[in-house]
Amino acid sequence: MGQMSRRGFLGRSTALAVSAMMPIPKAMALVAQDTPALRWFAVGDDEFLWPYLSTSMEGAIRQHAEENGYTVGDECPDCGEMSCTDHNADLSAPLPWLEDYSFAFDSRLPVDREPSLAEWIKAGCNVPCEACDYGEPTECRMFQGQALCEECLQEARTERLDRMVGTQPGTPTNQPRWLWHGEPARHA
Ligand SMILES: [Zn+2]
Ligand SMILES: [Zn+2]
Repeated sequence: MGQMSRRGFLGRSTALAVSAMMPIPKAMALVAQDTPALRWFAVGDDEFLWPYLSTSMEGAIRQHAEENGYTVGDECPDCGEMSCTDHNADLSAPLPWLEDYSFAFDSRLPVDREPSLAEWIKAGCNVPCEACDYGEPTECRMFQGQALCEECLQEARTERLDRMVGTQPGTPTNQPRWLWHGEPARHA
C-alpha cells in the first residue's frame, strides 16, 4: 500500500511542477483534467475493508478487484463460471457487489499516509480494539487517542475517574463517594 500511494503522490507532484512553467490556461487545464485529486477510498466486502488511494471510487474498486481476484472474469455474476464471455463484455470489470461496500473517505484526509483508526471510526467503520487486541474489528470509540471497544472503554473511563477522584485502584466503582458530597475531610 505504502509504495502504491507514494508513486501516485509523486506522479501528481511532477505533473504540477511541469504545469507551473506553462501559460496559465494550459496549466489549469492540465491540473483540472489530467491530475484529479487523489483521495482515500475504502473497498471490500461485508466483513473487511481496505484503504485505496485513487482519483475515483471506480478506480479504487478496480484496484481492489484486480489485486484480489474479484473481477467478473474470476467469477461470472450471472452463472458463476470463470472467464465467462457469454455474460461479460469486459472480463477485468470488478464484481458489481463491491460497490455496495465501498465509500470515499473525507477528501481532506492526507494522501501520504493511510487513514488512521480514528478516521475509520469517523467514517462509520469497526476497527480492532487497541487495548484488548483480539484483532477482530468491532465497534470502537476513540478515548484518549486510542480506539477502544465498549468493554475497554468502560475500563479506561473508570480508571480515569478513579485517578481524578483519588480512589484506590480496585475499589468498587459503585461505592458511595460520600467524601465529595459532604464536608471535605480535614487533616489536622
Ligand atoms: Zn456467465
Ligand atoms: Zn477492547
